[in-house]
Amino acid sequence: MSSVIASTVAEHHPGPQTQERGQRAVFCGLTSIIWLHRRIQDAFFLVVGSRTCAHLIQSAAGVMIFAEPRFATAILGERDLAGMADCHEELDRVVSELITRRSGINRLFLVGSCPSEVIKLDLETAAAKLQAKHENKVRISAFSGSGIETTFTQGEDQCLKSTAAELPALPSGEANLVVLGTVSDIVEDQFRRIFDDLGISNVHFYPGRKADDLPAVGKGTRLVAAQPFVGETVRALIERGADIITAPFPLGAEGSKSWFEAISKAYGVDDARVQQTLELPYQRAKRAIETQAAKLKGKRIHFLPDSQLEIPMARFLSEECGLTINEIGTPFHDQLVMRGELARLPPDVCIVEGQDLDPALNRVREARPDLTVCGMGIANALESEGLRTKWSIELVFSPVQGFDQAGDLASLFAKPLIRESILEVGSWS
Ligand code: SF4
Repeated sequence: MSSVIASTVAEHHPGPQTQERGQRAVFCGLTSIIWLHRRIQDAFFLVVGSRTCAHLIQSAAGVMIFAEPRFATAILGERDLAGMADCHEELDRVVSELITRRSGINRLFLVGSCPSEVIKLDLETAAAKLQAKHENKVRISAFSGSGIETTFTQGEDQCLKSTAAELPALPSGEANLVVLGTVSDIVEDQFRRIFDDLGISNVHFYPGRKADDLPAVGKGTRLVAAQPFVGETVRALIERGADIITAPFPLGAEGSKSWFEAISKAYGVDDARVQQTLELPYQRAKRAIETQAAKLKGKRIHFLPDSQLEIPMARFLSEECGLTINEIGTPFHDQLVMRGELARLPPDVCIVEGQDLDPALNRVREARPDLTVCGMGIANALESEGLRTKWSIELVFSPVQGFDQAGDLASLFAKPLIRESILEVGSWS
């Protein structure tokens, strides 16, 4: 993190902040293909990698045997890795076969991995050449999901950034709103209804359900993030003239209300109309959270760095569910996208950016929080020591944004605690 960012963070969050560098335990960016391929329903993701990469994707996706998945791995063999074969020729063949076989695919992403990066396979150039060859059939672009360059949710940022240059220019004098970051279809539909009621039109979700749902971008574009891991794409769109709206993320009743209020303010929507539109869903969300909050109140939670959702989740849990935050570990702390969150955190909470696995785990063992949010690889070890955990990957896979999902979001954290209390009651000791 640069010193500029560090000083800006200090401006917004008065509490302690540190950085750690050391061993990490986080999935690579290939993991993001799992939710991206569900969201962009006519896209295909071709990983150029090893058998390990193929294994990761297939186990993370839990592919059913009869399914025809929209992702695959072009496996680099020993001859490729030793530089004895022409990888471009092979890639050309695989892509041609794929395009012939899968006529419903409108966008092909070539996804780089550690092995393709190590042998310096230039996938961007390969994508441009393949695009020229298959011009009328499919759009082709490339991004990196390699574990050397990316962690887990950063894969989505790289994917979106890879198409940012293709976004058409917004005609001068026109205005639009771009909601950035994957949300589920159900969340998009709910958000669209609220935007309609607020009188906000020309709204685009990026990524959209279809690969060619590409929003126009220019001086009249307002940009709001729905996910915290889209910082590089935010910057690419700002360079194209878009204005970012500072808001907390739409998580929980308060977060969702503030998110819509910030957007409404940027559009100059009348206050009475905003309150009238938001009041009912807001009250409904508050009631849904209350039933879960009773199980969460007074518990202590610890976040290990994984998804970049840690700061907004900690805000939601302390602000709306009465949890005490022990520590917020986050792999990256992007002050531009987190600006709407930091001031709402408890002032004394410690934010740790980056990871050094052993000291981070020792702090969890020492504090023995009621719940630790962490990656799947760490969870089992902590559970075996009698600590309750929540996989952070579930927070990315589940529809959690917006008023109607607020109760479900709280219940994701309540479930492991309820499970523990049932085990305690049922225990023979
Ligand atoms: S991209 Fe790298 S870290 Fe990810 S599965 Fe492949 S080899 Fe492993």
